[in-house]
Amino acid sequence: MNKIELERYTRHILLKEIGGSGQKLLKNSSITMVGAGGLGSIVLYYLAAAGIGNIRIIDNDIVSLSNLHRQILFKNLDVGKKKVIAAKKNLLSLNSQVNIEIYDEEFNEKSSGELIKNCNILIDGTDNYKSKSSICKIAFKETIPLIYGGLSQWEGQVCVFDPKSKSICFGCIFPNDPGQEFDDSCLNFGIIGPTVGVIGSLMAAEVIKFLTSTGKPIMNKVLTYDCLQGEFQEFLVEKRNSCDICSDLNNVN
Ligand SMILES: [Zn+2]
Repeated sequence: MNKIELERYTRHILLKEIGGSGQKLLKNSSITMVGAGGLGSIVLYYLAAAGIGNIRIIDNDIVSLSNLHRQILFKNLDVGKKKVIAAKKNLLSLNSQVNIEIYDEEFNEKSSGELIKNCNILIDGTDNYKSKSSICKIAFKETIPLIYGGLSQWEGQVCVFDPKSKSICFGCIFPNDPGQEFDDSCLNFGIIGPTVGVIGSLMAAEVIKFLTSTGKPIMNKVLTYDCLQGEFQEFLVEKRNSCDICSDLNNVN
C-alpha cells in the first residue's frame, strides 16, 4: 500500500482484527453486487470507502425521483440516468483508488459466467423472489459465498450463505415463492429509508468480516431488524433436506 492508502485506511488498519494484512486482503478482493438500488447504495458506498479493490455492479434500472429517499448513492442530477453509470461516477468521486466494472444487464444463469469471474463474494441487493432464488442457485453451483439482505416496509433481514461451509441458503428460509405481493412490496406498501441503511450496513460489515476472516458470520440464522419496535431478533434456521438449491450439495461427499 502507498502512503495515501495507508492514511485513507488508517482507522481500519488500527483495528487489530484487520491490520495492514486485512486491508491488503480487501484491496486484493473482488466482489459482485447484484442490484444498485437501496441496499446496493449502502453496501457499495461502504465497500468502496473500505477499499475493496475490485467492485463489479450489475443493474439495468434507471434512477427515478422516488428512489432518492433511500438510494443514497444517487443525487438529484442522476435522475433519469442509468443506475450503474451514476453509481460508478459517485463511487469514484468517493474513492478513485478502487476499480469499478459496471454491467447494464440482468443477472441470471446465462449472463452470470463473466460477472462472477474471480469473484470472492456475491452480494444480493435485489428486491424480488425470482432474482434472489436465482442468485442463490448460482452462488451454490459456483461455490461462492453470498450475502443476502431483504426489506419490507419497516423491517429488514440479513444472512450469510456459504456453500463451502454447507450453510443454509435462501431456499431453506423461503421454500415457496410468496408471489407478486412480496416482489412489489416497496412499490405498493412503501419502505422507510433508514431501515435500508441498517440492513445495507450490516451486509457491508459481513462482507468485510468474511473477506478478512474476522469475527463470526451471520450464518445458519437470520438477523432481523424491526424499525417500528426498535428491535433486533435472531432466528435459527435449519437446513432443509429437500431444498432445491442446496440439497444437491448436501449429498456430495
Ligand atoms: Zn437450502
